[in-house]
Formats: sequence, structure tokens, C-alpha cells
Amino acid sequence: MRASNYLFSTLRDAPTDAVVTSHQLMVRAGMIRQISKGLYTWLPTGVKVFRKIESIVRDEMEKAGALEVIMPGVQPAELWQESGRWQKYGPELLRLVDRHGRDYCLGPTHEEVITELARNEFTSYKQLPATFFQIQTKFRDEVRPRFGVMRSREFSMKDAYSFHVSAESLQQTYDVMHQAYCNVFDRIGLDYRPVLADTGSIGGAYSHEFHVLADSGEDDIAFSDGSNFAANVELAEAITLKEKADPATEETKEVFTPDCKTIQKVAEFLSLDVTKTVKTMLVKGIDAEQNSTIVALVLRGDHTINELKVEKLDGIVAPFEFASEDDILASIGCAPGSIGPQGLSEKGIRVIADRSAAVMSDFCAGANKDDYHITGLNWERDCPNFETADLRNVVEGDPSPDGQGTIVIKRGIEVGHIFQLGQQYAEALNATVLNENGKAQIMHMGCYGIGVSRIVAAAIEQNFDEKGILWPESIAPFDVAIVAMNYDKSESVRNECDRLYTELKAKGLDVLLDDRKERPGVKFADCELLGIPHRLVVGDKGLANNTLEYKNRRQGENQDISTESAVDFIV
Ligand code: ATP
Ligand code: MG
Ligand code: MG
Ligand code: MG
Repeated sequence: MRASNYLFSTLRDAPTDAVVTSHQLMVRAGMIRQISKGLYTWLPTGVKVFRKIESIVRDEMEKAGALEVIMPGVQPAELWQESGRWQKYGPELLRLVDRHGRDYCLGPTHEEVITELARNEFTSYKQLPATFFQIQTKFRDEVRPRFGVMRSREFSMKDAYSFHVSAESLQQTYDVMHQAYCNVFDRIGLDYRPVLADTGSIGGAYSHEFHVLADSGEDDIAFSDGSNFAANVELAEAITLKEKADPATEETKEVFTPDCKTIQKVAEFLSLDVTKTVKTMLVKGIDAEQNSTIVALVLRGDHTINELKVEKLDGIVAPFEFASEDDILASIGCAPGSIGPQGLSEKGIRVIADRSAAVMSDFCAGANKDDYHITGLNWERDCPNFETADLRNVVEGDPSPDGQGTIVIKRGIEVGHIFQLGQQYAEALNATVLNENGKAQIMHMGCYGIGVSRIVAAAIEQNFDEKGILWPESIAPFDVAIVAMNYDKSESVRNECDRLYTELKAKGLDVLLDDRKERPGVKFADCELLGIPHRLVVGDKGLANNTLEYKNRRQGENQDISTESAVDFIV
């Protein structure tokens, strides 16, 4: 690409509504422009990065055996009525009426459409397992679109769906997809963690989210690098659900900000008596029958539960009270004795943290311990970092649920989410195949999402400095910039730039030749803001000695290299 033909659109200042770094830098680097709340136009530099991520995702999907399809963005209401989500999905679903008075929605996700396809195309178990994927625009009428393309209303998702005759087959594909997701984030070069997660409005019984670690993340994730423990703390989200309770305005009311999770506030929120707390665990899940979210803070005393109240967060149902542990487990759909981070229920309820001191400590963040009289709580043991403030970061000395490693709680950006849906959609839409015995059998399903546009922003959150973006090489808009000094006036500069440009391109690199009539300072600043990993400066002075100036965006030092070796040096 010759810069004289390119649209830079770089800006010195970010718009005032851009509060996170990635949003600021994406606007300043000329990658995106907002057209309306949560709606963005992608400019050439943004598109180049987007396409590189997209091609890594597509490649890994194909390697995992998934077949590409393209489903419509506009979906008929009938399918959503069949699945029951037309009523359940809520105001995030943008509904439309056509000229004939028929109802539609703008697709926020595609379980219904793909299940409709599968029930028509598949007749026999011999055709399964099968996995489809698409990379497509989704629309969700987010209550609070923010952070640029990180939480926009229109965004790009890779969504994949798998179909099976058995739960075992689903598990196998789920594992393959889990690995494919790790491959995607490894190839891009991000610091991420897969964590056990809630299944939200998509449903299902078992799911993992993939989080890019960054302070601007909206989720708290608890994990231990020394063991297998990793889960989404989810408390902040549960509170947000509570805040959505006002149907008249659909306004979000800040009851608690995500970082004031004191024992007392959580306990008040759940109508719990904190004086009886000995140990805690947090339970969150979806009540499939009532379609409401349940959060429970379970209080234990010497392995006997003193008291528990579970409040339905939609505020419709009054708090319940339970007497025994088995009552509680039964009420949330878990088998007796099944509580633990792996505990699952048929109703999609997951115990996400069991008496974890890390989660406990998170509740305590910001609290004054002298304000609480919590019988049996050992502050030193259960909240070791209480005095040293930032409990979000490291809770040292905590053993994980398998007794190894240290649990840390960090902020994460959800970039991917995979689900074992089981049979819920296939059952609702009567998607069956004939099994080995010739009997009609409801299919098992998995679904697998990656926020392709969100990854662009998430990658910046982990890779920037005061001058701009520091792209991982895998997704940089250009691999190398050739900055020409006096391209128009000096023939030797022009010849050398053109030679480098042609040869580097022939090696398969994405090359930007900055042939503009701009001051060198302007060109250097643009290169740095755009985060181009390699920069070559070509000027008459260097050429007199057959040298060019090389600079690596991350390492920063200028270095003279010979014109002869330049191409090999970069490649
Ligand atoms: P979030 O918790 O951030 O609202 P979600 O759990 O609602 O996300 P999923 O239904 O799991 O999202 O969709 C799969 C992926 O799509 C998410 O992991 C995320 O990367 C991406 N995604 C979801 N909502 C948005 C959005 N509003 N803007 C950009 N990407 C999004
Ligand atoms: Mg969401
Ligand atoms: Mg989520
Ligand atoms: Mg999700």
C-alpha cells in the first residue's frame, strides 16, 4: 500500500466519550468512527486488523472440522416463538415488522436458525456429528453500549453450532472446539484464560468463557495458574441483572458498583444474616422454569448451614428460606452432595465457587473488618490480604478448590464463549434423526461464539504504550512501514523505496510505503500510533553509505542496517 493512496484519518485527540484505551486508540488511529450509539463504521486500518483476526478464526474452525455457512441477519419470529425465546429474550432483542405485518428480529445469535436447518437437512445418525460456523454481523440492543467496539450494538461474531446423537459425542466436539479457541488466542498472541461460566440467555448446562486479561474488563475471573481452577466470579453481572429490574424505564440503576462487594452489601442484597456467617460460597444459576436468575450466598457453620435465602433476581418471587443443605441443593436442581466448583445441575445451575477464600475475600474488598461481627470467620485465614487493599489482583496464600496453586482474581474481557446446549433447542424445535435402532431421537447440540470485533479492542487493551498501539505481529494492519525522506525529490530514495516495497511484498509481507509529502515527525507518529511492528527509514544520508535506519516498534532502538541485508533482516 502506498500511503499517498491510503486513508490514514489519524487524530491527535480521542473523543471525550472514549474512556478505555482501546476505544481512544482505535479512533485516533483511524480504525473506527461512530455513526450512532453502539454503531460503527470500520475504516481501512480497522478492516485490515479485523480481517487478519477473522482469517485466523476461520482457519482454526476449518481445522476443527467445522463447515462455513452464512445465515440471515433478519430472523422470523416464528422460530423464536417455537424455542420460547421470543418472550424470554427481553429488550436486547430488536424486533421488526415487515410491510405485511409479520414479526422478525435482528439476530443476536443463531441457535433457532441453525436448528431449523439441522432438522431439515439431517435425517440419520450417520450424518452426525456435524459442525457449522459463520462469521457474521449480530445485533443486540445493549442497555449500555460502551467502550467502542468492545460493547457495541452491532458487532461481528463467529458462531458455530454442532449436532450429535449423544452427550459423549457432544463432549468430544466441545473439547475440540475448546482447543481450537486456545489455538486462536495463542496464534493472535493474547494473554487469556478459559474459565467455567454461567450460560446466560443462550442456556445449556455447561460452558466456558475465554477471557483476555485486562483491567478494563467487565468480568471478574478467579483462576489459579498452578491448578485447573478457573471460574467467572459473575457477581458484578448478577448485580447488573438486579439493576435491570425496572421494566418501565429499562434503565440500569446503580445499586452497587462492581467493586463494592462487601460481605454486608452482598448479604443485604440477598437478605442474609451476616452474623451467622462462618464460611461462604456463591451460587448463581438460571431457573429454567421461571426463567430467572438465582444468586445464593450460602452460609455455613461447621459444615451445617445456618441459614440461606435465595432471592429471585427479577424481583418477582419473594426470597425463599431453606433449612438444610439438601433442601438448598434440591431447590437449585443439584444432586445431594454435589456442591463444588464442578457441580452441575440439569437446570443449568452451576456452583461457581465453593467456600473459596478468594471469592470470600472479593466480597470483603473495601470493607472495614471492624464493622462486621462474623462469628467463626478467620480474617487472616479467609481474607489474608484484607489489609493490603486490592483484593481484585492477588489473594496470596489461598489454596485453590484442588489444594494446589494460588487463586488470583483479575478483570477479564470475554472474547469467546462455548456451551453444551444439550437437547433444549432440538427438543423445542423437534429436531430429530433416526438412531441406530431406526428410532427418532432428539439431537444434542453445542454452540461456540467468538467476538471477532471485540478481539480487535481486547488486543489493544493488552498491547499499547504512550505513543499508540503495539500490535502482535499476527494481526498488525501492516507488517512493515517504509518511511521515505523526500520521495518526490530524491531519485535514489525513490528507487530504493520502490525496490524494498516490491521485494518485501514478494515475500508475502503487508507493506506500507509512506511516500507522502509530510514532515518525518508526522510519518513517524502515524507509524507508532498505528502500531506497525517494523519500520525502515530511507534517506539520502544513509543511502550515501548504503544504509537504512531500522526500528522495531516494541524494542524502540534505532539501528543502521545495510540496504543489501534489509529484506532478509525483516523477513
Ligand atoms: P457479554 O457478557 O460481554 O455481554 P455475552 O455473554 O452476552 O457477552 P455471548 O452470547 O456469549 O456474549 O456471545 C459470544 C461472544 O460475542 C462474546 O464472548 C463476546 O466476545 C461477543 N459479544 C457479545 N456481545 C457483544 C457486544 N455487545 N459487542 C461486541 N462483542 C460482543
Ligand atoms: Mg451480553
Ligand atoms: Mg457474558
Ligand atoms: Mg457469553
